[in-house]
Amino acid sequence: VTAAALTGRELATTIRAAAAVRAAELTVAGRQPRLAVVTATDDEASAAYVRSIANAAGKEGIACDLLRTTTAAGVSATLAQLADDPEVHGVMLQTPLPEGALLADLARAIPAGKDVDGASPESLGRVTAGLPAFAPATAEAVLALLDYYQVELHGRHAVVVGRSVVVGKPVAHLLLDRHATVTIGHSRTADLAAITRQADVLVVAAGRAGLIGPEHVSPGATVIDVGTNVTDAGQLAGDVDPAVAGVATALSPVPGGVGPVTTALLLRHVVEAAAAVG
Ligand code: NAP
Repeated sequence: VTAAALTGRELATTIRAAAAVRAAELTVAGRQPRLAVVTATDDEASAAYVRSIANAAGKEGIACDLLRTTTAAGVSATLAQLADDPEVHGVMLQTPLPEGALLADLARAIPAGKDVDGASPESLGRVTAGLPAFAPATAEAVLALLDYYQVELHGRHAVVVGRSVVVGKPVAHLLLDRHATVTIGHSRTADLAAITRQADVLVVAAGRAGLIGPEHVSPGATVIDVGTNVTDAGQLAGDVDPAVAGVATALSPVPGGVGPVTTALLLRHVVEAAAAVG
C-alpha cells in the first residue's frame, strides 16, 4: 500500500487566486490590504517562513511590512502602534519570541479584527466559543485540507498530537466543531502509539522529526503532518516518518501539504480584515 499524498498546492493556488481578486478590488477602492509581520528572532527557519509570506503577499497584490525588534518591550510597542494604524489591516507576531515572553500574552495587543493568525487569547476564546474570529491559519489549513480531500470527520476519532495554543488546541476545537471525537496527545502522554493507533484521522503537530512511525498508525487512517523540522542536512522534514505511507490511506507531505495552505489562508484573512474595515 502507498498512501495517497494530500498535497496542498492546488488548494492553496485556488485560495490565493480568490484573495488576489478581492485584493485588487479593494486596492481600486483605495484600500490595498496590508499585512504587518513582527519578528523578534534570528531563527533562520522562521526568517525563511516570513520571507515566503512576504513574497506570496506581493504576488497577490497584498502589501506586507516586516518589522524587526529584539525585546518583549519592543514587540509590545510595535504591536500597539500597528493596532492604531488604519493603513494596517492584518498583524502577525512571528515566533520564536524573546526569552521568557509568551505569544498569548504579547498578542493581547493585537485587536481581534487585525489578528489574522488568531494569536490572541481573545481570538482563541472566540474560536473555542464558536464566535466569529480568525482561527490560527495553520489550524484552519488542517481542516481545509481535510475538506478538500473530502475526509469524513463526523463521528470519527481524530487524534491530535501537540497541544500548543497555535496549532494543537485550535485544531482540536475545530475538529470537535465538525463532530469528530477528539483525543489530544502530548509529551506526557503514556503510550502515545496506543492512542494514535485509534485514530481515523491523525493530526501531528509536535515539531519532532520522525516522531510518528508506522507503529503509530492503523491501516485506513488519514494522517496530516503539520510538523516543519529542519534536518541536519538542511532539508525540511515533517513529524511523520515517510514509512507511514506504507500503512496509512492518506498522508500530507512536508513540504507541500499544510504549509502552502497556511500561507494562502493567512492572505485570505488579510483581505477579509481589509474588507471588514469601514
Ligand atoms: P510547540 O509549541 O513546540 O508544541 C509542540 C507540542 O508537541 C507540545 O504540545 C508538546 O507537548 C508536543 N510534543 C513535543 N514532543 C512530543 C513527543 N515526543 N510526544 C508527544 N508530543 C510531543 O510547537 P507548535 O508551535 O505547535 O508547532 C508544532 C509543529 O508545527 C512545529 O514543527 C512547527 O514548526 C510546525 N508548524 C507548522 C506550520 C505550518 O504552516 N506548516 C505552522 C506552525 C507550526 P507538551 O505540551 O507536553 O510540551
